Amino acid sequence: MTAARERLFELGPGGAPARPIVLGSASLVEARATSLACPRCEEAALRVEEHAAETVDGVRLRAVRVRCARCGAARRVWFKLASLLAN
Ligand SMILES: [Zn+2]
Repeated sequence: MTAARERLFELGPGGAPARPIVLGSASLVEARATSLACPRCEEAALRVEEHAAETVDGVRLRAVRVRCARCGAARRVWFKLASLLAN
């Protein structure tokens, strides 16, 4: 069950560089990341450990490393800033 939920998270928005969550501003990224529920224990207890700009396949992304305060599972959530596309 846990592995299936992890897989669903990876296949959902933000779960992989190819499926970033698109936001309008970098200031929204960490709040959005911590609003997600941990796929392992289903608690909304994620804490930001690192917020980095990364380029994957030529696309500028934000990668936020989060760790669940309840079960300790760490993962990365991927974002793209819409303002980079609008121009
Ligand atoms: Zn958890």
